[in-house]
Amino acid sequence: MYSDLKNKVAVVTGGSKGIGQAIAKRFGEEHMSVVINYRSDKTGADEAVKLIEENGGKAVAVQADISEEDGATALLNAALNNFGTLDVWVNNAGMENRVATNEMPLSDWQRVLNINLTGVFLGSRAALDYFVKNDKKGNIINMSSVHEQIPWPGFAHYAASKGGVKLFNETIAMEYANRGVRVNAIGPGAINTPINAAKFADPQQMKDTLEMVPMKRIGDPEDVAAAAAWLASDQSSYVTGVTLFVDGGMTLYPSFQNGKG
Ligand code: NAD
Repeated sequence: MYSDLKNKVAVVTGGSKGIGQAIAKRFGEEHMSVVINYRSDKTGADEAVKLIEENGGKAVAVQADISEEDGATALLNAALNNFGTLDVWVNNAGMENRVATNEMPLSDWQRVLNINLTGVFLGSRAALDYFVKNDKKGNIINMSSVHEQIPWPGFAHYAASKGGVKLFNETIAMEYANRGVRVNAIGPGAINTPINAAKFADPQQMKDTLEMVPMKRIGDPEDVAAAAAWLASDQSSYVTGVTLFVDGGMTLYPSFQNGKG
């Protein structure tokens, strides 16, 4: 636990399941007050609220589409109206679908970019504007992916969105560093969440995935949540503009493991 996080106010986008829900639970354990954003899964969001409250935090669930301009505004207002301030904004919501690039409908491209990249911009803009106008040393955490670095055939829109998150993250980190605002990204590898449920249920795909992970295990959402708590806390007070990979070594060129090559 990080004592400085106690009573801090956070927004977590896409907090109804997976990594977002694990971050919500961890923030509850840190006794924070959390706005849990969901798009359609109210049951999952209510579960996240319960997990936070059971662990000593405060929470409210707020429906909003983070790819829409009004969505980020609604989340900021929920933080201010319910908890009086904003300290930490986690842009976690994201989605992917497999489609060959030559067959990719423009609508697929736009949907992934709108949620994964424009959503990160809109959330960051709302948080930064509040931090600047209130002279607040706030904290932004952007959920990127190992695919900000590793190309991913069949997921060109997803890789493009996460590559965009990388440079957006670095740029706004630099732009607001002298105000004491910190901005960092997390790059998860293969994490056991609903986004991967079908893939990990197939033994062959599970085996293929593990071959790409030097540590030979799939990550838990809690592994990512632990990184988010550290980045949100003062323990990382001299860290800004990084992507912290939480990937069991996936970004280390695993095909060279055991001296191959
Ligand atoms: P998930 O599908 O379990 O959860 C994604 C969440 O985002 C859901 O709660 C969903 O409702 C929400 N969401 C999607 N579109 C939204 C919108 N328009 N408005 C509001 N919420 C919206 O996925 P996850 O695995 O928990 O992924 C969370 C983040 O981590 C994503 O950005 C994803 O790209 C990233 N990531 C995940 C993995 C992994 O292995 N699971 C790896 C790398 C990166």
